[in-house]
Amino acid sequence: MKAHTGFGTLAVHAGVTPDPATGAVMTPIYQTSTYAQQAPGQHKGYEYARTQNPTRTALEASVAALEQGAHGIAFASGMAAMDAVVRLLRPGDEVLAGNDLYGGSYRLLQRVYAPLGIKSRFVDLAGSPSLEALVSPRTKMIWIETPTNPLLRISDIAALCAQARQLGIRTVVDNTFASPYLQQPLELGADLVIHSATKYLGGHSDVVLGVVVTRLPEVAERLYFLQNAAGAVPGPHDCFLVLRGVKTLHLRMERACDNAEQIAQWLEVHPRVARVYYPGLPTHPQHELAARQMRRFGGMLSFDLEDASVAAAMKVLRHTQLFTLAESLGGVESLIGHPATMTHAAIPREERLRSGLSDGLIRLSVGVEDVADLIADLEQALK
Ligand SMILES: *Cc1c(COP(=O)(O)O)cnc(C)c1O
Repeated sequence: MKAHTGFGTLAVHAGVTPDPATGAVMTPIYQTSTYAQQAPGQHKGYEYARTQNPTRTALEASVAALEQGAHGIAFASGMAAMDAVVRLLRPGDEVLAGNDLYGGSYRLLQRVYAPLGIKSRFVDLAGSPSLEALVSPRTKMIWIETPTNPLLRISDIAALCAQARQLGIRTVVDNTFASPYLQQPLELGADLVIHSATKYLGGHSDVVLGVVVTRLPEVAERLYFLQNAAGAVPGPHDCFLVLRGVKTLHLRMERACDNAEQIAQWLEVHPRVARVYYPGLPTHPQHELAARQMRRFGGMLSFDLEDASVAAAMKVLRHTQLFTLAESLGGVESLIGHPATMTHAAIPREERLRSGLSDGLIRLSVGVEDVADLIADLEQALK
């Protein structure tokens, strides 16, 4: 598809062509483990389903196009995608990562890779810090999550990637929170983008899957090798579900942004709320940067209550009726969560507090319901 095609058109059409066997308009779920060969080694490009599957190929092409990349490599989960990316490194190499990372990403780096000799340093990457003082000669990868989870801090992707390039360090952006509709890290200079497609790409809280996108052929080749060699591949049905979700990404994202913007403004003046973390608010420390780097500000927001105790937060969490108390995010339905005891429980408390994540912080994944109903639900829960 032509490079100038609009996002909505790409979301619906990229990677998808009518099935050559039947003309089926929707990519079929190729639920097979193997493919018939005409003679040994003579086949149609598909030999064994860990190595290739047409449903997966369609999804990989779709997400690669949405990220303005050349290669998409799908994995069984966002963590499996991250795992493959970290395996690009060797023992002795170091990762420089933000200190406000997704809890599972922190756990993978600290508990799986540090003991294997790939150390990570966690620093504040909000805004556009100078990397010179933060990296060592061993730093080979910079791991950027923006907006961050759950404090919605924004890193300047273009500024960080330009510096990293000068230093010969590879950059990875976890684009799960923004989705390619709101932010395109490869266009801003990143080497790799990773997604937990479990979230906005899938969009319906019914599948777990991960995708890596890059323009670098040698990196893609290694990732396809790892996908097959380590084998953390997604099943064809899961690929189908994400492919279906992607087609409405732009519509869902617009509505989620509309709703989140209104809820953020409403919370900001609520007497029981001390602070709202949402990049769309002019009071957000990186609001200007977010406005420059992102199409809109996303469907995620967090807030601190005036009473910053766990108990006060628990009371609110127990009383919402429309917002479901659950981990995860990015689905059509609104979710509410308590990072300190849920998504970020894997991070030691001192480290959590140091990065600004309080015991009472409440996180919302705003869905596509009617905003008046969502606000009414929060209003009664805050009472
Ligand atoms: C959920 C999430 C992940 C992990 O993805 P899974 O699909 O759950 O394995 C990684 N990064 C971010 C920002 C996430 O929200």
